Amino acid sequence: MNLIVDIAVGVSVNKTFHYSAPEALQERLVEGSRVLVPFGSRTMTGTVLGFPDKNDSAGLKSIIEIVGSPLTTDLLALAHWMADYYLYPLGLTIESMVPKAVSRAKPKKKKYLTLADGDHDMDAVRGPKQKELLLLLCERQIISLEELKTFSPATIKALCEAGMAAIIEKDAERTETPEEFVPCMPPLLMPEQTDAVRRISEAASLSQFGVFLLHGVTGSGKTEVYLHSIKQQADLGRGTIVLVPEIALTPQLLGRFQRRFGDRVAVLHSGLTDRERADEYRRIQAGQVDVAVGARSAVFAPFDKVGLIIVDEEHENSYKQDEGLRYHARDVAVMRAKFQNAVAVLGSATPSLESFYNAKNSKYQYLRLSKRVDHRPMPAVAIIDVKNLAKQTLYTPQLITGITQRLEKNEQTLLLLNRRGFSSVIICQDCGVVVKCPSCSVSLTFHKNEGNLKCHYCGFFTRPPDKCFSCHGVDLKPLGSGTQKVEEELQALFPAARMRRMDSDSVKGRDAYEQLLQQVDRREVDILLGTQMIAKGHDFPAVTLVGVVDADVGLNFPDFRAAEKTFQLITQAAGRAGRGESAGEVVIQTMNPAHYSILHSRTHDYEGFYNEEIAYRIQLGYPPIGRFIKLEVKSVDEARAAEAAKVAMNRIRFLMRGKETTLLGPAPAPISRVRGQYRFQLLLLSTKREKIRMLAAEGRAAVEEKFGRKCRVIVDVDPVNLM
Ligand code: ADP
Ligand code: ZN
Repeated sequence: MNLIVDIAVGVSVNKTFHYSAPEALQERLVEGSRVLVPFGSRTMTGTVLGFPDKNDSAGLKSIIEIVGSPLTTDLLALAHWMADYYLYPLGLTIESMVPKAVSRAKPKKKKYLTLADGDHDMDAVRGPKQKELLLLLCERQIISLEELKTFSPATIKALCEAGMAAIIEKDAERTETPEEFVPCMPPLLMPEQTDAVRRISEAASLSQFGVFLLHGVTGSGKTEVYLHSIKQQADLGRGTIVLVPEIALTPQLLGRFQRRFGDRVAVLHSGLTDRERADEYRRIQAGQVDVAVGARSAVFAPFDKVGLIIVDEEHENSYKQDEGLRYHARDVAVMRAKFQNAVAVLGSATPSLESFYNAKNSKYQYLRLSKRVDHRPMPAVAIIDVKNLAKQTLYTPQLITGITQRLEKNEQTLLLLNRRGFSSVIICQDCGVVVKCPSCSVSLTFHKNEGNLKCHYCGFFTRPPDKCFSCHGVDLKPLGSGTQKVEEELQALFPAARMRRMDSDSVKGRDAYEQLLQQVDRREVDILLGTQMIAKGHDFPAVTLVGVVDADVGLNFPDFRAAEKTFQLITQAAGRAGRGESAGEVVIQTMNPAHYSILHSRTHDYEGFYNEEIAYRIQLGYPPIGRFIKLEVKSVDEARAAEAAKVAMNRIRFLMRGKETTLLGPAPAPISRVRGQYRFQLLLLSTKREKIRMLAAEGRAAVEEKFGRKCRVIVDVDPVNLM
């Protein structure tokens, strides 16, 4: 009998393909089956979408084989939603969800030494080592070769040749000698925690989709709420997915999960090899774990039944994938919960404007943890104006005094450099105001080769002014130009201090990162200097001072979320201070001491910040009111890239009717050339998501029709990085 199968192949085209299924495979093929198929001259992986009601298999190629387990129904539904929402080919979408090695490698096999059947004459064995091995084997029956490292290969071989033992290969057991696992006793919850756990668990037990925003100040015990809720799901036989930012996947955090759930925890992070990742994936499929903890892609963990999906630090930018399938793991988590009738919990001390807006509008349910667990006070925050600081120095007397005191008391200081690898924004040294776009209200970026200031949202450009618009001062300089000296100057001020630096240039790889964290933990470091990396989730009890050296760099970043990111960063960094016995202190250096994002972070007043920020988002129609889609047009030829961007613009303009949509650009990207490719961008903004999705797809199609492969268009739905 002929069976025709519709397959999404992992290639970059927006259609699916028909194949015929060999008799031998027909029974095992289901919707969601993962298969190998011939495609052109290659063999590709693909996914079965359905079985069209057709008979004529003439000319169709045949499926080669089935690999791995089929995708569950809900993951398949999620894949369809993502492909549609993110305007990405379905086949490639699915390939991004499944670890590569799962489609390729077989489960790991290991070599074991087993005791041969029959009686064994100890006297026939020569040499003490062989005797010792035989005794051990009589006791244990089977031992992995790995465990027998103390015996030489010759000893093992001799025993086998004597017919007493044999080497066999079988699937690796995860724990060779399973120890009795005794979970650690959880602490008694505080009233607000109890209430949160109760509401989450009630909702989850109804198997009805719902989203909670868990808004808890730093150190308020959010993780403890997660752990309790996970336990309740596990008791009901349902899995939980916990997403954390990659950087937070430290042994500290994983230890907390493992002490509670033993080996029923799967961990997925970027440090795993393909094979390890595939092994964890299979353990989840086999129902051997209750909870999967991981970064972004753990949102696709293949649980059969998910009851709960937790997104910790939900405001983090790193949840957005910046290449390939440009999904936002938080948004995908909410959708997955929806497809599974599960509950999503988004946790943060500084929720994204999007999530808080949804909570205000009752789309999400709101849970608040308002106090630190141990009733420790929130740290005192001092805002220091640096406008009058001598131009040669980067440190205010207040910060210097603070550091000196810490060194004397043998406490630690954390210094935050807000430098985001980019500084071509012009700031007035007298009043601290930067030059902004008159219509988009983002900072203009300086493009050296043309000598122009440009808006990378709408394309507006102007000559750099010789005087500040605001105070008519003449001392205009690129922002952040002095920060390279931060370390030198600090070392000169405190020659005896043990300083370490933590940023992606100086700390490469997970191991280096964890070693540095341990050094801080053992108090081998007095001053830890670093970028955003150091503000995230760490628990350093001896840190009592946090300094933000240059708050203005983040504040004036050419991005509409600059104020939000600054508020989050300062609040999170402040959360690192005073977690131990001594109270904490925070010193913020800025030229804009009156800026609302800084004033509200001083009083730890999230709502105060939100109210001011949302007013301005409403005024401009920016998210969470409207939605952005970015089209990035790239080519090695600058003129071609510019022309292609116009082609996209014309098509979109032509189709854009009514006033509900705004098209900004084309404009050169602020980093206008990357790896030899010139980049232009267009931004679509609307409250009508479907409408701009259609327009984005049309804009891309227009370029593809005219330029074929000579020009690439990347569509980024809900972009986070507008650089
Ligand atoms: P968050 O995730 O909000 O930063 P954590 O869950 O990490 O907070 O809690 C902060 C600290 O307080 C941790 O050391 C945690 O073990 C402890 N803790 C949390 N809840 C309780 C509780 N109910 N009783 C005692 N200690 C708690
Ligand atoms: Zn503009």
